[in-house]
Parts: sequence; C-alpha cells; structure tokens
Amino acid sequence: MDTILVIGGGIAGCTCAVEALRLSPSSNVTLVSPSPTLRTVEAIEHVTPLLGIVHVGDRSSDDFAAEHGVRMICDEVVALDHVRSQAQLASGGILTFSRCCVATGASPALVAQATPRYFGIRDTESVENLRERLVDAKRVLVVGNGGLALELVHFLASTQACQVVWAVRNSYIGNTFFDASASAFFVQHVSTETTCSRSEPSAKTGTPTGVSDEKSIPKASVGPDWLKTLATQAGTSEEDRNTTSQNPLLDIQFECELGGICERGEDSSDLYPVSATLTNGRRVECDFVVSATGVRPNTGIISSDFKRGPDGGLCVDEMMRVVRCGGGIEKEGDVENNIFAAGDCCCLERNEDHWFQIRLWRQARDMGLYAAKCITGSLDELSRGGVFELFVHATRFFGFKVALLGRFNGQGLGPSVQDLISNHELQEGPSGIGVKHGVTSTPECRHESIHIKRATSESIRILIRTTPGVEYVKVVLVGGRVRGAMLVGDTGLEETFENLILSETDISHIGDNLLTREVDIEDFFD
Ligand SMILES: Cc1cc2nc3c(=O)[nH]c(=O)nc-3n(C[C@H](O)[C@H](O)[C@H](O)COP(=O)(O)OP(=O)(O)OC[C@H]3O[C@@H](n4cnc5c(N)ncnc54)[C@H](O)[C@@H]3O)c2cc1C
Repeated sequence: MDTILVIGGGIAGCTCAVEALRLSPSSNVTLVSPSPTLRTVEAIEHVTPLLGIVHVGDRSSDDFAAEHGVRMICDEVVALDHVRSQAQLASGGILTFSRCCVATGASPALVAQATPRYFGIRDTESVENLRERLVDAKRVLVVGNGGLALELVHFLASTQACQVVWAVRNSYIGNTFFDASASAFFVQHVSTETTCSRSEPSAKTGTPTGVSDEKSIPKASVGPDWLKTLATQAGTSEEDRNTTSQNPLLDIQFECELGGICERGEDSSDLYPVSATLTNGRRVECDFVVSATGVRPNTGIISSDFKRGPDGGLCVDEMMRVVRCGGGIEKEGDVENNIFAAGDCCCLERNEDHWFQIRLWRQARDMGLYAAKCITGSLDELSRGGVFELFVHATRFFGFKVALLGRFNGQGLGPSVQDLISNHELQEGPSGIGVKHGVTSTPECRHESIHIKRATSESIRILIRTTPGVEYVKVVLVGGRVRGAMLVGDTGLEETFENLILSETDISHIGDNLLTREVDIEDFFD
C-alpha cells in the first residue's frame, strides 16, 4: 500500500498530512509527532484575495486523527534512512514509507546551552517557564531584534512587569520587518521614556560562542495566545497592552549582542542570579535572559548528504524535494527523491518575482499544502505558482494593524534598493501638491508627512507617508512598478497595493505623487 509519512505535528506537517489524504484517499497517511498536542491553522480571515490573518489553534492528536482519518503516532523520529525509505523512531520502531515529508520545524538559536534562566521562546513549555520566571523578576535581559523580541518587549514594557534591558544587534528596532524609518514610527510605542545606548564599533568584543541546546525534543512553536498566558500573570488585558506605554524601565542597547552569560546559582547572595555581558562591554545583572535571536531549522534526522541552505534549512527544489549536496535536483525515479520537506525546517531558494521566505504560520501552511500536492502528484499548472505568487503577512505590532506585501523592504531587489532602504536620509515629498511636512489640512492627515528616498538610478524610489501615531505607508518602486509595500494602521490600501504588485502596472506617470491624497490610488482598479 502507498504509505505517506509526515514527520512533525506543527502547521506544516498537519496541513500536509490532511491535504495528502484528501488528494490521495487510498494512501495510508501517517503523522509522527512527539507531542499529543498538534498545532493547526483553524482559519484564514481574508483581508484581500491573498492577504489574510491566520488563526492558529491546538488540537489533540486523537481529535485530529478522528476528524481527518490520518494515522497518528506519538513518537520522535531519530533518523531517516533515505536509501531504505525508513524512519527510525525513538521508541525503537521502524516505519517504512513510499514518500515522506519532513516538517520538523525549527528551534530557538541559542549561543549557549539552554537553562531555566537562559532560554528561547518556541513552545508552550518555554512560555510557561517565562511566566513562572516573571513572577518575582526585577530585571530581564531580552536579546534579539525580530518579531518575537518586538512582541515580548512591548508586552513587558507596557505591563511594566519588571525592568527590561533589550539588546538589539542593529541601530534600530525590529530589523526582520522594519527598516530604520518604519522603526522610528514604532519606537515611540515601545516606550516614550527609554534609555537608549549605541555602541561604538570598536567596543565590540566579538561574536559569542558556545554550545547549543541540541538534545531536547523540539515541540511545535507556540500559538497566537502565548502573550495572553503572560498577561494573565501580569494582570493586564489585550487593550492595556495596545496602549502607548510611558515606561522608564526599558533600556535599549543598540548595536550589540550577547557576549557571555554567567549564572550564579539559586542560593547565591548576589542581588541577581545572572550576570550577562553584551558585546558593547555593558554588563547586565538580571534574573534571566530571553533569547529571541531567530531560529535554527531542525534537520538532524536527515543525512548531511542533503544540502542545507545558508540558514541551515534543508534545501528543497521546485517540487519541495530535498536536494543532494552538489547533485542539484534529483531525477525522477531516483531512490532519494521520495523525501520532501516543508515549513520552518526547509530553505526555499525559489526564483519568484514577489515571494521570498520568512518563517511564518502562513508560509508553513502554504508549504504544507504545496508539498502534499507534490507528494501525491497532484500539482497542476494552476497550483504550481499559486502559493508563491506574493509574499503576504498580516499581523499587529504595538497595537497597529500591519500588512506586508511583496518585497516590502526591497528584499532581493539588489544592492541599490538595499542601500536606499538602509539609508536614513529622507527627502521631503512633492511640493505644491498634496500634504507637505507639518502642514495640517484635513483632520485625518494632521501632521502627515510624505518623504521620498531616491537612488542615484532614477528608477528606484522609496515613498513613505507617515502620520505619527496613526499610519505609516511605505512603497518600494522599481522602474515605475510597485514591488513591495508596508501598510501600518487603518490605511485601507491593502487590496490596491496587492493588485499593483501582482499586475506590475507601470505607474511612472504618477511617480512621486503616488501617496499624496490627491491621487486616489484606491480607484486604480475600479
Ligand atoms: C514565540 C513565537 C511566536 C510566533 N509568532 C508568529 C506569529 O505571530 N505569526 C506568524 O505568522 N508566525 C509566528 N511564528 C512563527 C511560526 O510559529 C512558525 O513559522 C510556524 O509555526 C512553523 O511551523 P512548522 O510546522 O514548520 O514548525 P513547528 O511549528 O516548529 O512544528 C514542528 C513540529 O515537528 C515536530 N518535530 C521536530 N522534530 C521531530 C522529530 N525528530 N520527530 C518527530 N517530530 C518532530 C515538533 O515536535 C513540532 O510538532 C512565531 C514563532 C514563535 C517561536
């Protein structure tokens, strides 16, 4: 009998298993998860045809098996034998498969062995540990500058649960999603009274080293409510957390990383049980350190004969099959080409116009769906591009609605665009038309300003319209076409920009006036 084995009970694995069984009902689809609790996408609330808010939830493996007919095995795969097409389980069992999808996710990237006082946030257990540690914490060090660090620091700062030292590698906050100008819009909402310190380049003491936490069994990453768990602890509501904080207890240390960490032991007479050193030379005495410096894909079960990407993810080809080192794409009929990968564990180097990889729920779900089509041979021309048509991410930061579309930070558009994005200098927008800096015209555009960044090459533009505390709109234009957009606040522009990116409409004739209110871009596609 045709046996499809899916390894990993996170969003990618669950989606893949259900879809594979739907497409190939006569197959035996088996899902292996070390945890009896699975993480699934419950719904996508569409904002536009492609952009949507992803609702994620937990399911017991029994309920999941009963609802979908997928065979569940609660175990861990310790090794995958691609020659024999067998998976070895921690319990000693062996599973033989016809085709297999690796969806083992990723684990927090730590610079030293995880301990109860130095840990990353990934699964429910780590959130529980954080919750317990927060009860009597006086000072916490948060290291990292991605979405998770932003959420956590905003939460800690707005609840004033304890003093927070935040070490960020860049010269601005939120480098995964923001450039310096977007960061400036948000930084006031972290706290209006922060202590900010920037290191001199010479103060750096080098890259931290150490061993990472390889041994623990990876769990599915936490669901959307992980901060609510902490909120219960701190006695705050979602609304409270969405308000701008006035927190003198937040100290942001820019341009530095964690250099070293020394734990003193629970019975030490020192005021703080942990002493951490940052690469700018600053020593931070604290109760614990949360590392939010990104993730490392879980790929240990599969032979090093298979190629890893720059981030350690399993490289997959156009059909989501793992790729042999040096061998490129496997040929049809090869024994190895029955192993696929999806979700956070894999690295996609697809050459798409408007899509690129960031490890997110939506991408885990889309890859799971797509891998199922590839595994069951159900991929048609129509569904081939589909999920990789446009990068989309709908989320909230600091209480603001955020929509990210296409290459919103100029990702992959070449050094000229990247230079322009990281260039802090803004030029004032079009004069004589629209709303200019500091001019109040209508109530909704009070204090609105429009800025333009121009590259030496005239064809590259970054247009930014911002009203502090209300909205931030950034558009990346190359050759008169919109390549990406970041929309913060209730802009109502999501569908327009989705269409502009996908249709590749040449809007050179509008040029720098695109974001002025005289140009009704919402009417563009009427
Ligand atoms: C704290 C946090 C907050 C986040 N917030 C958001 C957010 O707001 N929005 C968003 O879009 N994304 C968010 N993400 C990212 C998102 O969670 C991930 O991109 C997504 O869940 C990845 O899904 P996955 O199925 O690939 O991996 P995971 O969810 O990591 O699942 C992997 C599964 O594989 C299992 N597994 C691992 N190894 C083995 C093995 N050897 N044998 C068997 N099973 C194994 C694990 O137990 C787990 O069940 C967040 C991530 C974190 C850590």
